[in-house]
Amino acid sequence: MLRNRTIIISNRLPVRIERHDGELHVIPSEGGLATGLGSIYKEGENIWIGWPGFVPDNEEEKQEVSEKLKELNLIPVFLTEEELEGYYEGFSNEVLWPIFHYHPSYAVYDDSYWNMYESVNKKFAEITVAQDIADNDEVWIHDYQLMLLPKFIRAYNSKIGIGYFQHIPFPPDELFRGIPWRDELLKGLLGADLIAFHTYNDTQHFLNACTHILGLSIQNNCLRSGGRSVYVEVFPMGIDYDKFNDLAQSEEIQTRAKEIRTFYNNRKFVLSIDRLDYSKGILERLRAFEFLLKTHPEVQNEVILYMLVVPSRDNVPKYKELHDEINRMVGQINAVFGNNEWTPISYFYNSFDVKELSALYVASDICLVTSLRDGMNLVCKEFIASKENNNGVLILSEMAGASKELIGPILVNPHSKQQICEALMTAIRMPAQEQRKRMDDSLEIVKKFNIRHWVRLFFKRLREIKSIQSQER
Ligand code: UDP
Repeated sequence: MLRNRTIIISNRLPVRIERHDGELHVIPSEGGLATGLGSIYKEGENIWIGWPGFVPDNEEEKQEVSEKLKELNLIPVFLTEEELEGYYEGFSNEVLWPIFHYHPSYAVYDDSYWNMYESVNKKFAEITVAQDIADNDEVWIHDYQLMLLPKFIRAYNSKIGIGYFQHIPFPPDELFRGIPWRDELLKGLLGADLIAFHTYNDTQHFLNACTHILGLSIQNNCLRSGGRSVYVEVFPMGIDYDKFNDLAQSEEIQTRAKEIRTFYNNRKFVLSIDRLDYSKGILERLRAFEFLLKTHPEVQNEVILYMLVVPSRDNVPKYKELHDEINRMVGQINAVFGNNEWTPISYFYNSFDVKELSALYVASDICLVTSLRDGMNLVCKEFIASKENNNGVLILSEMAGASKELIGPILVNPHSKQQICEALMTAIRMPAQEQRKRMDDSLEIVKKFNIRHWVRLFFKRLREIKSIQSQER
């Protein structure tokens, strides 16, 4: 059949279903990906397939959810609690997440996790194929929860265009090698035509894994697998620049930002925002801030660290330990250095809406990102997008994907408290003119390579690759 439909597939749909007072509600996501792909999946017969964040009680409820979502071009993949535990909490978060963030000792190699990961990936494939896919359709699969899906879909259709984007890093092949199911994972991805990552390093690590572990042949960035050419490329993801830029200029946000600054007595305002995760370097940041206050007593009373940590996975022991340690360190630093007029760290364990985040970006002087490993880090791009015609300094970990793309930030090794401390001193004392220059350099990149541009470029490249492949046959 000749059709040209686009099918987006990700673990989560761009909405979630919630039940309140016996009624089902569809809550849209505010994430950048949902915005970037919004104009695609809502059009014509295009669809987005994924888990709706809800476990129905019975068949009737499933039916009701499916009908509600169908009107929005969304197709749910319903998962049981057991499937979620093995595929998502287990294999995705306890095997792939730690290995891909360079923490191999945190990985839990449990056969039952793997079995569930494989069967849920198959389930996604069956639901995709049941949508009556055609040769001319194109499928874009998102992220590490679905690494086997390209192969499973390919088994049903050898011609369809399949793209895969990984939002988290890909580790060096010698780290990846430790995963007992490494061959299956690589072969799973190789069902795609275009496999993309945020950075050049990630693409090289993946190519190395394919050549060193599977023994595939490679020419530049193109692998030969199953008689097909598979392209591995860099697509650094952007943000919804206009949204953050417009919000930052609005009167409402400007007023709220002034309130925040006044509340903190116009002190140097250092902002950090991340999910609770060991990959974010939160403890390393606190140690560096403590070191700053110790070695530069002259900035005491002058600077404040506003630290927002978004609750995440805190039923998992490793995350709970991290949460407890953050509480302890914040308490200790505030107790040792604080006084009646000044509390060095304002710490929130909470999730804020986009308006409050925007006001924080506008109010802050310095954004401090110390990830030990991060696919991209969108927070730093949102900070920059909020700073047009405004001063500000970004201190950015070398281990975040964004550090490979942005010009202008002060780069630091997040394991070095001395370097972070020095960067903070440089930022605190940086003349306005230099701040503007650095910010303008970064702004240009964040503005141009925004989320819509990223989506356009990805599809353009997938179509080019399909055309190259068709000439090879
Ligand atoms: N975010 C949010 N509410 C909060 C804090 C953060 O919606 O209270 C958003 C933030 O705007 C950003 C995302 O969460 O878009 C975090 O993305 P990032 O790439 O920095 O880290 P990730 O959590 O994806 O590893």
